[in-house]
Amino acid sequence: MAQFKTFEARVLKSTPLSEFTKHIELEVKGVSHFGFVAGQWLSVKTMTPDGEEMTRAYSIASPPSANGHVSFCLNRVQDGFMSNYLCDLSAGEEIAFQGPFGDFTLRPPLRDTVFIATGTGIAPFRSMLHWLLADPEQHRGHEFWLLFGARFEQDIYYREEFERLAAEHANFHFLPTLSRGGPEWLGLRGYVQEHLGSIVGARADIHAYICGLNNMVSAVRECLTAFGWHKKQIVFERYD
Ligand SMILES: Cc1cc2nc3c(=O)[nH]c(=O)nc-3n(C[C@H](O)[C@H](O)[C@H](O)COP(=O)(O)OP(=O)(O)OC[C@H]3O[C@@H](n4cnc5c(N)ncnc54)[C@H](O)[C@@H]3O)c2cc1C
Repeated sequence: MAQFKTFEARVLKSTPLSEFTKHIELEVKGVSHFGFVAGQWLSVKTMTPDGEEMTRAYSIASPPSANGHVSFCLNRVQDGFMSNYLCDLSAGEEIAFQGPFGDFTLRPPLRDTVFIATGTGIAPFRSMLHWLLADPEQHRGHEFWLLFGARFEQDIYYREEFERLAAEHANFHFLPTLSRGGPEWLGLRGYVQEHLGSIVGARADIHAYICGLNNMVSAVRECLTAFGWHKKQIVFERYD
């Protein structure tokens, strides 16, 4: 069996995104550059108090960069170990991981693309969209939609950042949709799959990337298949 290198990384900053969600920034130790492709994940390893080795996958939420920094977008899972261990870390503490792994990455040739996420499924799209929009050679004027489903307004992670990106790039459209938005919410309402018809409909020249829990991923795939989409147009990552 292939042996993968284990890296150590130091927490630079841990910032709450909502009551149960954190953004953590890490510096990979001993490297000047940490190579990965936007959309990939790392396998975090730790020992539980019972002396059991545990590994869990976490998408990299930051774009590839010239330094050895990576970020995670983490949700606390009730009765889970790793998610709470990571959310409880403070600046200066260290973790061990292997990777990068995964092929949830942008498929060439690049096309107009809809990115669909709920919860921390937004992580790989934050990486992809920052990478794409940083350079016209990368995005080549294609249209991108980020359709992000949340329950309440306070659960729209990275809201200001994506609104700023949308203001700076006419080809990027940030579309949060709330299933339980209050009366003051003027944006989209309901579940992500309810908006696909008006955003992309039956277009055959477009890609969809879906990331989050299995129920949402299945509902979106069914919806796109019903529009007549070919399965090659749909790329997905399931977190559970
Ligand atoms: C490729 C990949 C990338 C991932 N990226 C991220 C990421 O960027 N951020 C992130 O927060 N998580 C991500 N996950 C989920 C993560 O790997 C763990 O499954 C999650 O953190 C729970 O681990 P745990 O040890 O705390 O709980 P566990 O002990 O593994 O699970 C406890 C219970 O919660 C359920 N459960 C598992 N995962 C979730 C979840 N995500 N939400 C709700 N319930 C769940 C399980 O079915 C189980 O019943 C990713 C998973 C995969 C496969």
